[in-house]
Amino acid sequence: MPEEVPILFDFPDDAENTIDSEGEGGERELPVVPLINTVLFPHMLTPLFVGRERSVSAIEEAMARDRTILTVAQREQEMNDVGSSDLFTIGVEANIQRVLKMPDGSTSIVVQGQRRMRVVRFVQEQPVMRAVAVPIYSDEEKTIAIEAMMRAVLSLYEKVIKLSRTLPDDSYVMAMNVDEPGWLADLIASTLPIDVPRRQEILETLDPEERLRRLSIMLTQELDVLELESRIHTQVQKEVDRSQREFFLREQMKAIQRELGQDDPVQRELFELREKIAASGMPDVVRHKATDELERMELMSPAAPEYSVIRTYVDWLLDLPWTDQTEDLNDLAAAAKTLDRNHYGLPFVKERMLDFIAVRQLAGDRLKSPILCFVGPSGVGKTSLGRSIAEALDRRFVRASLGGVHDEAEIRGHRRTYIGALPGRIVKAMKDAGTVNPVFMLDEIDKLGADFRGDPAAALLEVLDPEQNNAFTDHYLDVPYDLSKVMFITTANLLDPIPPALRDRMEIIRLPGYTEEEKLHIARLFLLPKQLEANGLAEANVRFSEATIRQLIRAYTYEAGVRNLEREIGAVCRKIARRVAEKRSYPRLIQPNMLMRYLGSARHNHGTAESQDAIGVATGMSWTANGGDIMAIEVSIMDGKGRLTLTGHLGEVMRESAQAALSFARANAKGLGINVEHFEKRDIHIHVPEGAVPKDGPSAGITLATALISALTEHPVRRDVAMTGEITLRGRVLPVGGVKEKVLGAHRAGIKVVLLPSQNERDLTEVPNHVKRQLTFMYVDHMDQVIAEAFPKAPKPVTTKTSSPSEQGVRSSKRKSVPASA
Ligand code: ADP
Repeated sequence: MPEEVPILFDFPDDAENTIDSEGEGGERELPVVPLINTVLFPHMLTPLFVGRERSVSAIEEAMARDRTILTVAQREQEMNDVGSSDLFTIGVEANIQRVLKMPDGSTSIVVQGQRRMRVVRFVQEQPVMRAVAVPIYSDEEKTIAIEAMMRAVLSLYEKVIKLSRTLPDDSYVMAMNVDEPGWLADLIASTLPIDVPRRQEILETLDPEERLRRLSIMLTQELDVLELESRIHTQVQKEVDRSQREFFLREQMKAIQRELGQDDPVQRELFELREKIAASGMPDVVRHKATDELERMELMSPAAPEYSVIRTYVDWLLDLPWTDQTEDLNDLAAAAKTLDRNHYGLPFVKERMLDFIAVRQLAGDRLKSPILCFVGPSGVGKTSLGRSIAEALDRRFVRASLGGVHDEAEIRGHRRTYIGALPGRIVKAMKDAGTVNPVFMLDEIDKLGADFRGDPAAALLEVLDPEQNNAFTDHYLDVPYDLSKVMFITTANLLDPIPPALRDRMEIIRLPGYTEEEKLHIARLFLLPKQLEANGLAEANVRFSEATIRQLIRAYTYEAGVRNLEREIGAVCRKIARRVAEKRSYPRLIQPNMLMRYLGSARHNHGTAESQDAIGVATGMSWTANGGDIMAIEVSIMDGKGRLTLTGHLGEVMRESAQAALSFARANAKGLGINVEHFEKRDIHIHVPEGAVPKDGPSAGITLATALISALTEHPVRRDVAMTGEITLRGRVLPVGGVKEKVLGAHRAGIKVVLLPSQNERDLTEVPNHVKRQLTFMYVDHMDQVIAEAFPKAPKPVTTKTSSPSEQGVRSSKRKSVPASA
């Protein structure tokens, strides 16, 4: 079977000579050999493998006569058993130069194309296909246009040969030496890697000029393809070259290092780092950065100081979590259990967390974590609550304290240009977390500072802004780090010092402090078991009586939370544990009288109500970071020149409150029954016991006024009344803060009646019912009402000249016991 094979060329001097016995018009009957995958052109010398039996017979017949056959290409290249209708009708008369019998029985021939022939008719199909054909002669005249066309084709061909990796260069030389236009076209077409239909097209184009034109189109197409191929090839080559070069250089470097005796450990280290980087799941930017740094290390001696700096840096990149993430536990019931197991009360926070988990179940990952801010005094469980939330969600928990942070670099790290630079607290904590979605607690956000070293709050803004924190930049890392999956919880003792921009980003949750009852519960249910366990007394059957715990709360701690209480319980437990360890007898039930022995004498004397009504002393309610308490404000009058002295480390606002109270007393002296001369001839001394000085604020106003009026009128103030409220010059009473804590403090101190500004009535919802039941609340709008309630016998019928009619209208005091359900 004739198949496509390398084509050879020859320049026969007398190509036409071998042909004999032509009929009319050159008509000849010839054995036909169908060609697969190729087209033979005149002048072409080519070997053909002959496989099909009919073709072998055709060749045998030709050899027996004048060695001439007619080669005609098949229309379908895949077809084996072809009939005459499956062949083109223009073919080439060819002369068999050689016949080779192969050892495997097949036949191979070398044929030379002679001239184009048109098949007139097929005369026989079997056993040899035969056809009558006539030669086709064409005009070979060389016009100028043809000459130009020949040159153009030659120049295109030259380019194709240059780019082609299969065409031999001497094809061009051969083409250059062909003078006839038609022949030139045939020769070039025969060498090009084009398919059978296009070859046949060239064969069938009889006009040489047209043939050249079509060929030039094919050449141009070929050139395009080759150019593209060459571009791709160069690119690929470049890549290969570069990596080969790098490989070569690295090998060289290794050899050099080996020579320097720095053989394998370093290479192994670098190799391991490379592997780790590949496996770390870093985003592409980070991986490139890490790889670049590694390449710098490779060029360095491990003894160079820079080497270990880079190594530390790469380690940081590797140690940070990039994709590792814990699966959130979306089990509401289990979460609720966990929260209750760790904390007593605090229903609001627990509800908020369960809401979050519930919404998360519905919305999935789309739900951004809330940024919570727990505000409250120390020891109320802010940190432990954060831990408990992490446990409920089954996330890791990390903390970073912001207390006293002045420098932006503490949050964001130092640039690597600094010696000893390290990442900031955020990144450090993320490394500890080891996952991208921990619960991250930022403690003491109210204690952030700011100075010339930059504003840490600004850096924190970036951390806490859900829009920006997916690309947080730490100066040390110098690559963006995604914090968007982190659940941030911040804590603060006070809300006011938090920069407003930060405050706006957070959901504030207040933990105001516990009542004595709550502390008792917490101690019994949580602190005691924890401390007994921690001190190895779980088996020892030790119990604390309720009175003991109360004593610990009242006399040994002074706090809104339970941290010191826990510490004191721990201290007692340690004493017992020691006795147990020493195999001495130990008490099973701890009673109040034993505390003295274990802890020393009581440390705190909470304000307790005065034992009797006194002149010049009024009981105020204060609120400090340790919770609420009462404070006795004392005023004494002595002979002098009408001066006002204030003692007890009072702040500016408190001093102004005292002035306002004095001015009120003066303006209403007559109505209050005060001798006006007092103001000129007596000195007034106001003292607020230091321990009780609250957060500087105006809330002691009415207490100051009451104490003043009492001293000036020499009427005693009721000892069981405590009060809070700001006073205006005209005697109006304005609302104040910290009501819950103040009320709790007053209750603890044994106060019976509490005077509150009317506008603070709504704050009482936060006060536990059992406390409310034991107190009488009075809501006041004006100083007159305060006077009416605070003095068992009012100093005088009160008529104030300054109060307006509308104020008179609200001047009935609402005296009521708050029902338990309020
Ligand atoms: P904060 O962070 O507010 O200063 P902590 O979280 O450190 O307070 O709490 C101090 C201790 O008090 C912890 O051991 C904590 O478990 C315990 N604690 C605080 N509140 C509660 C509560 N409601 N129930 C149980 N334990 C509590």
